Amino acid sequence: MQHGTAVFDGIRCYRTSSGPALFRPRDHVRRLLSSARALGIEHRYSFEDLLTAVGRAASESGLGDSYVRPVLFAPEPYLGVDLSAFRFTLGVEVWPVPPVSRAEARLTVSPWRRPATSSFPPTVKATGTYAVSALAKTRAVAAGFDDAIQLDALSGRVAEATIANVFLVRDGRLLTPWPEDALLPGITRDSVLSLAAALGIEAREGPVEVTELAGADEVFLTGTASELVGVRSIDEWHFPGRGPVFAELARAFRDAVTGRRFGELGWCVPVAES
Ligand code: PMP
Repeated sequence: MQHGTAVFDGIRCYRTSSGPALFRPRDHVRRLLSSARALGIEHRYSFEDLLTAVGRAASESGLGDSYVRPVLFAPEPYLGVDLSAFRFTLGVEVWPVPPVSRAEARLTVSPWRRPATSSFPPTVKATGTYAVSALAKTRAVAAGFDDAIQLDALSGRVAEATIANVFLVRDGRLLTPWPEDALLPGITRDSVLSLAAALGIEAREGPVEVTELAGADEVFLTGTASELVGVRSIDEWHFPGRGPVFAELARAFRDAVTGRRFGELGWCVPVAES
């Protein structure tokens, strides 16, 4: 509320043939704990406590397709930013969020860059850093776009979109910006890299200059809330939106989150068991 020091994560729950299932909840809870640790936040919750709280919230909501957000926050008003003085507590919000269907986005490159990795660790999901995303997104929407690509403050290379990672497709191969630039290497990004490997699609992480976007055959975004979104345009550069590589990965992703395929990866955890 006051200093942007809460940490949170966002997890999707999907309807599957064996009931509602959280998608990779352990990876999300692990990330929440590492966000808290990085900021020096003191709290009393174990990994299992958080996993149980997330599963219970998803289950009690009675919602099948939903978005579950565990938040560790300091409830009492305080002056100062020494977090060791405060006891953080857990809240879990659940929203009804249907899966994204056939979304396509028109993007712009934001003049507002992601904070350098030497300013704030981009792997930490703290509420304060979302003011950076909000600034870029709100400005992009006001200018008639759906979202913005943000560059790394120091290198000027492509980092990510405001709440999603970026993939380029070139000659049938995937390229996504590497964590040396200021980005959150998302769990959906990781899922897409795994699915690409399973499908025999070559993929690589590396530095991505903004001008490389112009030469991409396809561009798409990945994120828990966004899922996989085909990109139609980035400023004056145009793409197919749902190109063939994107379409294959989007199908595989849908099958993975609903447990129809890739069950061996252990990503879907029924809410009763999480
Ligand atoms: N980058 C940022 C800045 C984000 O907020 C998110 C959403 N958590 C992502 C990337 C994508 O991460 P994930 O796939 O884990 O949701």
